[in-house]
This record gives sequence, C-alpha cells and structure tokens, in this order.
Amino acid sequence: MVDIEQLSPQQARERQRDGAILIDVRDDDERAAGMPDGAIAIPGAELRARVAAVAPRLDQDLLLICASGQRSLRAASALQALGYSHASSVAGGFRQWRADGLPVASGALDDDAGERYSRHLLLPEIGASGQAQLAAARVALIGAGGLGSPAALYLAAAGVGTLTLVDDDKVEKSNLQRQVLHADTRIGMPKTDSAALTLTGLNPRVKVQPRNERLRASNVEALIGDHDVVIDGADNFPTRYLLDAATRRLNLPLVYGAVHRFTGQVSVFDPRRAESPCYRCLFPEPPAAADAPNCAEAGVLGVLPGIIGLLQASEAIKLILGIGKPLVGRLLCFDALAATFRELRLPRDPLCPGCGSAAGFAGYEDIQQICAR
Ligand SMILES: [Zn+2]
Repeated sequence: MVDIEQLSPQQARERQRDGAILIDVRDDDERAAGMPDGAIAIPGAELRARVAAVAPRLDQDLLLICASGQRSLRAASALQALGYSHASSVAGGFRQWRADGLPVASGALDDDAGERYSRHLLLPEIGASGQAQLAAARVALIGAGGLGSPAALYLAAAGVGTLTLVDDDKVEKSNLQRQVLHADTRIGMPKTDSAALTLTGLNPRVKVQPRNERLRASNVEALIGDHDVVIDGADNFPTRYLLDAATRRLNLPLVYGAVHRFTGQVSVFDPRRAESPCYRCLFPEPPAAADAPNCAEAGVLGVLPGIIGLLQASEAIKLILGIGKPLVGRLLCFDALAATFRELRLPRDPLCPGCGSAAGFAGYEDIQQICAR
C-alpha cells in the first residue's frame, strides 16, 4: 500500500472539479448523516463488482473516501490490483472532509445513479454536481407529440428530475409515424398517460407529471410556473403566443422548435438575458389560419421532429447546467432534403409587440384573441 497516493479533502475536492470520481466506500447506514457532495456511494464490500459500471476506463481518476481514511486506503489498493492506475485515498476520510467545511450532500448520488449516469459523470462539464443539478431540474414540455416525444425521452434518460407534460390529445394511429413516446397498443389513450408509461419505464428515477389539459389563458401560468425550462412542442399558434407571453412574464427560458414538411427550426428565447429576442421578434403577429397549415394538413417527414426535438432537449440540458453557448439570438434551420443546417441571426426587435419598449400586456385572454382572428 506504500504507493497509494493520499490527498487532503481539499485536494480531493479540486480533483473532483477536474473530473475525478469520488467514491464513498462507507456502508449505507454510515452515509445516512450525509456524504461528500458529488460522491458516488458504493460500499467497500461491493466495490470490486460495481466499480466498472461507474468507471469504465482503467485510467480514470478515482478518489476513495471512508470515515477516517483507513478503509479507503485498502479500497484504493484493491482497485490498483484490478488495474486502475489512478486510485487515490482521501486522508482523514469524511470526518476530515466535514471538519474542513467542504460541502456535504444528503445522499446525493447512490450507486444506481452512479451506474445509470456514468457516461455523464465522465464529462467534467457535467460530473456528479451537474448530474445533481439535472436531478433537481424541472422541465415543462408543451405537447407530447412529434417534438415532445424525442425531447422527453432524452431528458428522462439524462436524469432531469421532473418532467411536466401538457397535452390534451389522445394517441392516434397517424401519430405513430413520428411520436415515438407512444405505442400501437395505446391508441386511444391520453398522450400524457402513454408518455408517462414510456418515460418511467426508461428511467424510474424521473418524476413525470402528466397534465391532460389544453394550455389556455386561464391555466398557462399555473402549468408552467415553478419550472426551470419550458420546451415548446406545440402544434398551434394560440399555444405558442400564450407560451411566449407567459415565459416572458415568469422570466423562464423557452426552447422553441417547429417543423414543416422537410424543414425545421429551433431557437432559445431567454428573458433572463437582456439581449435575447422573444418569439414575437420572429413572428410579431399570428398568421391567418389559412396561411398556417399544421402537420395534419401539410405533412411532415417522420424523422424531422425527432431531429428538431433533440436539438431542443440539448438546449434545455445546456440551460440547466449553464454550459456551452445557448441558441439565443440565433435561429437554427435544418433542411432534411438538402441535409444542411443554416444559422440565421435573430436579434431582439426594439419594436416587437411582445418585448419591445412600447409593448404592453393586456392579459392572456387578449393574446388568445389575436390568434382567433
Ligand atoms: Zn420580442
């Protein structure tokens, strides 16, 4: 054991920030009072059998911690014997970690999460703290259809803790060409119930809140308030204009996506950023009903909402984690036939009827009215 590196808790914390995986090898009852923030719990007796699930690479930087620093030394030694070249022990253990005032989480990542999200944990941009942020996040998806299907599937898989699905439709056979949340055996079932079955089957850790109702002036704030990100997967203009108004008033980022035949577009409207445009900077007024065909009338290539909905999911995850450059002020357009992505600059419009300096808010009923004209 002479060649096992020993780190102070503070050094371990810094390594953790650089992407090292901290494994708490104490037993379940010892962890009841808390564990180091971002650590993964694997009791020492199970370490050999389980470590590969959270650390698939033998050169992964692994830090072991126990109560006082003895068991973690043995654990690090055992991992070296398994071929792990960078297994270190935290001197003084959790006792010293706590005494040094380092952050403590109440049972943050258990071994199920450690294994399930191991490919996220390997990314320093996410890691255990990012995964905890995802678990705490609440995303509202408006529409459990073409765009909502891929977005919800991947957000659930990624471990977004709460997904609220708002849709008042039932599953129809003609949906199944693109709405992959649903199934042939569930035709006739409310889409929100069908979606909840699929999503909890994929990841039982995620809390799915089905809201089998249509988004209206009277319920929009109650349905989307108390969320971190809203995903626009709507198929009609009244809903999109309502969402735009409500997300601006509630100061919530809105991830916009739309598809038509073989093309789609995606952008992020984030009222928390002064430079961000809103949906009405792009579409100031709703089109007349005759000029606004939906998928039922114009048709859509089945895979297209899959691509656009996943771009929306990717933006949502970036917003939750605060990583990368969000699609704010940019409209990303995809043409499936040409296989091209084009990015258009989308600046904020000072004369916008939604967010411009002269814009007023006369209530959601008025917004709903302008779409009925
Ligand atoms: Zn605007």
